[in-house]
Amino acid sequence: MQKDSLQRFIFKNRAVRGCLVRLNESYQTITLQHHYPAVLSKLLGETLLGVVLMSSHFKQRGQATLQFQGDGALKLLSARVTADHAIRGLVRAEPDLISNQNLIQALHQGQLTLSYEDLQSGQNYQSIIPVEAPSIADALAHYFVRSEQVPTRFFLASTEKTAVGLLLQIMPSKDPLIARDDFQHLTVLADTLKDSELLTLSFEEILTRLYHEEDIEIFPEISLHFGCNCTLEKMEQVVKSLGLSEAEAILSAHSFVEVTCEFCNQIHRFDQRDLDRIFK
Ligand SMILES: [Zn+2]
Repeated sequence: MQKDSLQRFIFKNRAVRGCLVRLNESYQTITLQHHYPAVLSKLLGETLLGVVLMSSHFKQRGQATLQFQGDGALKLLSARVTADHAIRGLVRAEPDLISNQNLIQALHQGQLTLSYEDLQSGQNYQSIIPVEAPSIADALAHYFVRSEQVPTRFFLASTEKTAVGLLLQIMPSKDPLIARDDFQHLTVLADTLKDSELLTLSFEEILTRLYHEEDIEIFPEISLHFGCNCTLEKMEQVVKSLGLSEAEAILSAHSFVEVTCEFCNQIHRFDQRDLDRIFK
């Protein structure tokens, strides 16, 4: 199994940069925790790729969260990547209903939200756009044009076990006309890549297959892993938010108060002694 990683690169003679991301073990950890059916795993895989690719060229150190929300059969797709490259994600949907729907139909009046928390300044940024594209890759490209005015393309492929994505993006500082021509040329080539190639070839093989005539500078590969930041303290806060009387009512009915992390499915049970401590 190829390892989970991301690799940024730039075309030395073109005004375009790129990134490749592969998720295996981290992605399987997430889908196994929730036993998602294939149709949902695939959507989550693309959303996880999306958040890693979208934040791959951010200058600040921080964590990014990408969400699709709607009131159709697909309620929520959420994926996050932290500054130390830990990913987590979840889906809420009615899988039987969405198998034949595109993204617009599945979400029904959906919206895409990208949130970014800058660790250095402590500031949060958030952009929200309506989802008007039939696929996650197209919705993400639309986001960059609409929110950042930076032409960007995403090439995403996912199975139940592997998700691999390629991003190509115009470099913001370069001459816009030359950059557009370069971008056009490189994306036309990337369109020839089959999903099966994206899923199975190594990063090096993908770049050789598409761009053997280009001079590419490759940055060091960065490892990605699954990580959830749920803690006992956060779970205690959930119990506290119930209020003492509600928590005691649950305790007397079930002999414990159970809190489950919706991301990693970790369960923590609180007994009378815990409640005494939490509400002291
Ligand atoms: Zn968790």
